[in-house]
Amino acid sequence: MYLHNTATRHKDEFTPQNPQNVTMYCCGPTVYNFAHIGNLRTYIFEDLLARTIRLRHPLTHVMNVTDVGHLVSDADDGEDKMELGAAREGKSAWDIAKFYEEKFWADYDALHCTRPTVVSRATKHIKEMIALVKTLEDKGYTYRTSDGIYYDTSKFDRYDSLVGHARISGLQGGARVEMSDEKRNPTDFALWKFSPKDKKRQMEWDSPWGVGFPGWHIECSAMAMKYLGHTLDIHCGGIDHVTIHHTNEIAQSEAATGKKYVNYWVHGEFLILRSGKMSKSGGTFVTVDVLKEKGYDPLAYRYLCLSAHYRTQLEFSYESMDSAAKSLKNLRALAVQAKQSAAAQETEKSKAWKEKFTAAMEDDLNAPKALALVWEAVRSAELSAAEKVDFLTFADGILALDLFKEEAAPKADIPAQVQALLDARAAARKAKEWKKSDELRDEIARAGYLVKDTPQGQQVEKK
Ligand code: AMP
Ligand code: ZN
Repeated sequence: MYLHNTATRHKDEFTPQNPQNVTMYCCGPTVYNFAHIGNLRTYIFEDLLARTIRLRHPLTHVMNVTDVGHLVSDADDGEDKMELGAAREGKSAWDIAKFYEEKFWADYDALHCTRPTVVSRATKHIKEMIALVKTLEDKGYTYRTSDGIYYDTSKFDRYDSLVGHARISGLQGGARVEMSDEKRNPTDFALWKFSPKDKKRQMEWDSPWGVGFPGWHIECSAMAMKYLGHTLDIHCGGIDHVTIHHTNEIAQSEAATGKKYVNYWVHGEFLILRSGKMSKSGGTFVTVDVLKEKGYDPLAYRYLCLSAHYRTQLEFSYESMDSAAKSLKNLRALAVQAKQSAAAQETEKSKAWKEKFTAAMEDDLNAPKALALVWEAVRSAELSAAEKVDFLTFADGILALDLFKEEAAPKADIPAQVQALLDARAAARKAKEWKKSDELRDEIARAGYLVKDTPQGQQVEKK
């Protein structure tokens, strides 16, 4: 397999340390709000990577859940997003984390992303984070300011290894303007923040340096190394994390262990809106629920993501959603047609198609090419229905688009509460409780629907 490695800036052949256990860490959601479909694009690409690796190797896939410490600015300024979420909704930060994490997994599952082997919550790993900061302190990489313990990036000479010297200098120049007097270098970052003196935080812990909370970057290093060892095969995330978050993860992990932290850094490009960035803080975001409310199958969004390479920006629009939904519907109809006429059978020909498909996915996850092969196969005169079903079953193990799903006949758009009244009325009529049946008919009418009794049962229409 070949993967584009951000650290080397080219496509490298992927060689795991232990082919019997590939290790992969993915930065997880900050659970202070709904995940938007941009965030979910990143998880879809990571899922494609996980599924492709699993064709040849067992994989340990770790994902964190950031439920503390991610400040409004990735560069350690502003308030903690969790505490902000709590203030916004009048709930506790713990309740906010629980609610949005549950919602996150529902969206993740709806898009057929495979659950990670290990899910690690930041608030459950404070001990490991403190231990890592202590190691960095003992090795002389830290200093204290009035608001926390900071990492001195000038002490780590490979600080620019992920992004290159030019970009780090640019970053330093930009950061200098807002730099607090106490920071020694513009790129220095907080490892441990003290709780403010004038305000009680909801999430805070004791530490050797005083009561406070961990920095956002330290959480990923501490949890990744706890579950996967000092050197990971693969670390993923969105492209926005390259310059600050992942650069800082390398600095703190490698300074602490003296070993290379990650062999392959794999980053996904952004989903954007025509009007600009999709952002949670800006309030301009689309969620899986919004897509569902508009009548889309969430897998049509997965289809849309697969139709663009993970390293190219993808512009979201409802026109492109419509065309993805239509393509998925047509593809499923052809797959179902093949399945209705024959059972899967593996032959030399279907094997050759599986190999072509695998080669596309193993070429830096070329999902658009893999998807094109699937289209070619369903239309091909060269493959029998049995061979098509065999190939499509294999391809769907990676694409996860429910290719053999039969489209249900369109249902009248009846709200759940009206449907419950209709069910109750059907039961009343069966029990010959005519008075109750009439009362329910009136109640259904008050909810805006007309019910008629026909030989086929109740028929309902909007008034
Ligand atoms: P967050 O919940 O903000 O910590 O982000 C979760 C993941 O989504 C990270 O890997 C981000 O890099 C990624 N991400 C954020 N915005 C976008 C976007 N518009 N498109 C694709 N990925 C994104
Ligand atoms: Zn992270």
